[in-house]
Amino acid sequence: MTQKALIIGTGLAGLSTALRLSSKGYAVEMVEKYHRPGGRLNLLEKDGFKFDMAPTFFSMSYEFKELADYCGIPMPFEFVELDPLYAVHFEGDQRSYLIYKDLKKLAEEFKELEVGLEEKLRRFLKAAGEIFHDTEHIVIKQNFDSLLGYLLQLTRVPLKHAPKMFYSMWKEMERNFDSFEVKVIFSLVGFFLGSTPFDTPAVYAMLNYTELVHDGYHNVKGGMYKIVEGLVAELGKRRVQMHFGVEINRFEERNDRLSAFIDTTGKRWEADLFVVNADAAAFRGQVLGRKKFSPQKLDAQKWTLAPLTIYLGLNTKVKNMYHHNYFLRRNFEEYAHKIFKNSIKLDKPYYYVNIQSMHNPDYAPPGKESVFILCPVPDLRFKPNWDDAETIADAIVQDLSERTGFDFAAHTESRTVYDPQQWESLFNLYRGSGLGLAHDLNQVGGFRPSNKDEQLTNLYYAGASTVPGTGLPMTVISSRLVTERILNDHGTLS
Ligand SMILES: Cc1cc2nc3c(=O)[nH]c(=O)nc-3n(C[C@H](O)[C@H](O)[C@H](O)COP(=O)(O)OP(=O)(O)OC[C@H]3O[C@@H](n4cnc5c(N)ncnc54)[C@H](O)[C@@H]3O)c2cc1C
Repeated sequence: MTQKALIIGTGLAGLSTALRLSSKGYAVEMVEKYHRPGGRLNLLEKDGFKFDMAPTFFSMSYEFKELADYCGIPMPFEFVELDPLYAVHFEGDQRSYLIYKDLKKLAEEFKELEVGLEEKLRRFLKAAGEIFHDTEHIVIKQNFDSLLGYLLQLTRVPLKHAPKMFYSMWKEMERNFDSFEVKVIFSLVGFFLGSTPFDTPAVYAMLNYTELVHDGYHNVKGGMYKIVEGLVAELGKRRVQMHFGVEINRFEERNDRLSAFIDTTGKRWEADLFVVNADAAAFRGQVLGRKKFSPQKLDAQKWTLAPLTIYLGLNTKVKNMYHHNYFLRRNFEEYAHKIFKNSIKLDKPYYYVNIQSMHNPDYAPPGKESVFILCPVPDLRFKPNWDDAETIADAIVQDLSERTGFDFAAHTESRTVYDPQQWESLFNLYRGSGLGLAHDLNQVGGFRPSNKDEQLTNLYYAGASTVPGTGLPMTVISSRLVTERILNDHGTLS
């Protein structure tokens, strides 16, 4: 007999889970509070310009291939490998550094700063790669039924990696490299995890391996939203219905089972089983009213930084810039320590710039350019008021213009700024945190909110704040893990 699964949220994890469950014979229906699918992986269309709203590239592209194979479909979109991966500009420098996967070319970029970089990188990346391959299947791609089960599983990781749990990623940089610039560039991944490189354990240097050796970075031909369009088209063929502008805020239970979710208009949504793609921690607190996820408990957790995003439509082409660019400064340690708690002024921040129409010509009218700027900022716990968002955006655009010699403000004909308050309300991101729960060792694996509900036997979770973690490939893995759980509990239907 067909069983019906209702998925709350059409983010990447929700869409991937829908595809996997429909492949196994489940009838799937989806509800979404935003007006179109994709969650954070969304598209902004304004004044004739298009913008990828948040993610602009990803690693571990093979996770998408695995999803397509699992569901027996051809890849619904085309990857483009980035080369160079990105450019980095330090304040005060005349030049940018290009980050190549080819270590010889990379060493050449830094030859004035770091002697013998190629050899040093090979040594560093070999050790980082060993950690990645020794944990990928044991820790990252696993469901855990209990904390004890997780801790036991950790004992299977070779002991030689253990010391790297106890010193920082920055220390690992200091052990391997001499120049400030190289150390800063390869420790930026610490911020993606929701912490600083000074607090992130050295084991996470494995992300440098995924970036530089394993699979590099990719984006998608025609823009990142092609991922969503491709998955939605497949779901359409399987008659998966999606309802937009529907926000779930209550539930009904009977005999330890969830009988229905209820939306803000009072409509009941029934199913045999339910998958929540909204934030797995915040949803348990805000909708299910669980004490373990009360506002105080959620606020005491570590969350990734919030986004301040700027979308510029320019009336001309930008000169002398690469596709992906980081703009950094020289007060790295002070900035890293102070940015999370809003104890540093935001008039001279660190930020990322993506010239989106450079590789996606239909993102801007001919001769024009669409530009995306992302500045990671404190979340709403530490900076609740964003009346100054436009002023901060002005300062960033001014800084960018000075550092590139191209007057962005003078050429702007369309501008949109989203601050953390808007990000919170667009997709229910807790306190506006951009990537969800951070990845401190006490917030990953068996410590992270589980993808199976603690009380209701037919309720599951998929997405950035459950296992294994945040980022596009991780949310695709999360869809696999939750599907395994469901098949284990309820069986394959086809
Ligand atoms: C600015 C920014 C830049 C990023 N850049 C990158 C990048 O370059 N590369 C990368 O790999 N990752 C990046 N990420 C992270 C990546 O976007 C996320 O990890 C991923 O998209 C999360 O997908 P998800 O399915 O878990 O959640 P979401 O995309 O948040 O989807 C959850 C969905 O549930 C809906 N929802 C929530 N609550 C309810 C409710 N109560 N009722 C109904 N619907 C609800 C939301 O509206 C949303 O559509 C970035 C994130 C941000 C914010």
